[in-house]
Amino acid sequence: MLVDGEARTTLAVVSLIEPTNELLETLDKKRVYDMQQRALLQELKKKPNITLDGTEINVYANIGNVSDVGMVLQNDAGGIGLFRSEFIYLHSETFPTEEEQFAIYKRVAEMMGGKKVIIRTLDIGADKQADYFNLPKEENPALGFRAIRICLTNHDIFKTQLRAILRASAFGTVSIMFPMIISVRELVDAKEVLEECRQELIAEGKKLGDVEIGIMIETPAAVMLAEELAQEVEFFSIRTNDLTQYTLAIDRQNPKLDPFYDSHHPAVLRMIEQTIKAAHKHDCWVGICGELGADTSLTETFLRMGIDELSVNPGSVLGVRKTIRSLDLSK
Ligand code: PEP
Ligand code: MG
Repeated sequence: MLVDGEARTTLAVVSLIEPTNELLETLDKKRVYDMQQRALLQELKKKPNITLDGTEINVYANIGNVSDVGMVLQNDAGGIGLFRSEFIYLHSETFPTEEEQFAIYKRVAEMMGGKKVIIRTLDIGADKQADYFNLPKEENPALGFRAIRICLTNHDIFKTQLRAILRASAFGTVSIMFPMIISVRELVDAKEVLEECRQELIAEGKKLGDVEIGIMIETPAAVMLAEELAQEVEFFSIRTNDLTQYTLAIDRQNPKLDPFYDSHHPAVLRMIEQTIKAAHKHDCWVGICGELGADTSLTETFLRMGIDELSVNPGSVLGVRKTIRSLDLSK
């Protein structure tokens, strides 16, 4: 009898000998995509993300694992704008220890060779569940016990991660970003826990780097409070998938709602503009790390709003760079 692995290999061989039209189409699309990416790389590698009239921004990449860093470097991203650290927890059977996390963050920081690495603290809950957290079943998980709410309730979990990130900061350029902040109070509390970790590590004689602190802007509350929040941090990263979900009251997990989901909804675009204006009044830089950041039909709009950074999936970095370099904002 065939064991699972053997059965899979046999199927793969059969499908290569007698490929279906669907498989041929997929392979063809992949071939065209790879060719386009190679051509983009040839044309754009090491070129700045600058418009024809001289506006320059950063284009970074989003990752979920160390294994994604190769793609980030291959596509010449200027940094990592979003490291979804919850994937470390999701791929673990139990709470990852400080040492385990430190090894991962250090490796990413070192691989990026001094380029910025923005680590989002644990964003578990809602669509991302790990059994060992024993989170209660909720009626409205997207509006429930998630992300910073879990961290501010369980300081042990939060401190383990913050200590690991702070220790990794000695090995590269590391920033910390808190998700789901809806009030200045929460941000101040999170920063206090971070400071406690910093003091502990200094007392233990650990080497630490300078760490920029930022938050995700993903709720209408954070947009409305952007001026106050900007005074507490160095940067904002607008999380457009969730900001759209919370602004339009549309569950991003429910495909039935796709006909009602408008990612270019004027309310969302106005929120982004409002956030950038408020942040810049207080020397706080602003990026976009949701899918909208890679939507090149909006790149000009974002640049005109004054965006400082776009963080996209690694495969989109060069396409966004190409679009930026074709724009003339003086017109
Ligand atoms: C987003 O919501 O736009 C985002 C970047 O975060 P995630 O997709 O990880 O929830
Ligand atoms: Mg989310």
